[in-house]
Amino acid sequence: MPELPEVEVVRRGLERWVAGRTVAGVEVLHPRAVRRHPAGGADFAARLAGQRFEPARRRGKYLWLPLADGAGSVLGHLGMSGQLLVQPEDAPDEKHLRVRIRFADTTGTELRFVDQRTFGGLSLHDTAPDSADGLPDVIGHIARDPLDPAFDDAAFHAALRLRRTTIKRALLDQSLISGVGNIYADEALWRAKLHYDRPTATLTRPRSAELLGHVRDVMNAALAAGGTSFDSLYVNVNGESGYFDRSLDAYGREDEPCRRCGTPMRRRAWMNRSSYFCPRCQRPPRVSP
Ligand SMILES: [Zn+2]
Repeated sequence: MPELPEVEVVRRGLERWVAGRTVAGVEVLHPRAVRRHPAGGADFAARLAGQRFEPARRRGKYLWLPLADGAGSVLGHLGMSGQLLVQPEDAPDEKHLRVRIRFADTTGTELRFVDQRTFGGLSLHDTAPDSADGLPDVIGHIARDPLDPAFDDAAFHAALRLRRTTIKRALLDQSLISGVGNIYADEALWRAKLHYDRPTATLTRPRSAELLGHVRDVMNAALAAGGTSFDSLYVNVNGESGYFDRSLDAYGREDEPCRRCGTPMRRRAWMNRSSYFCPRCQRPPRVSP
């Protein structure tokens, strides 16, 4: 699954190549790609025709294209293998092309949604009440992400103190903080020298502030590493490419030496996923008697 930095790269690409353009026509080539649009592909196409896209927005891993004049927003789900590509109109169709959006200008390019496994898709939604940025109503409950200037650090810390949960669960809880997936949670916890099972109620305010700082650092580092690829006409590669993996300190490094202390890193099964950590730098919490 793509994580926040990958999705942000897609957003920047869309902002650059698609914002301000008016839709001439939409071709839905596979019904599964619009299954989250209950009225179906024909309705999706009819409602988009003639609409103008505003700059793409993102909250956590959710990406949307607001339509001008409050006409709703197109939510893009990348799923496991979804790609949004800006291609020349005369480029051959991709094998797994699912939706084509043509524009009413003479740029000569079109937007394509390509998805081999069809877990992703596009859907059109009303805007959440009081939203200034076209937030689709179906994701109105998703918390802001830590790169959002309006993210409330103090409220996040207060929520951590109140919840009877553990720190990695909290980092992956999209109603508390969005956009932190398994990989970046492990990276930030390693940098903060925190074990994933640490109860959140034991975190002091400076400790949670430090952790948030590390979350932001790992995401910004990933953005810096991957942010160059959107310069081409391709809006983005998909989330499976793993082109951010080079800079990881924890995730995927089982049995490799901790880059801080040299102790072999460990992997533990965790909520149907894995957690990677240094057993020396990230001590497990003491079990209370
Ligand atoms: Zn270590």
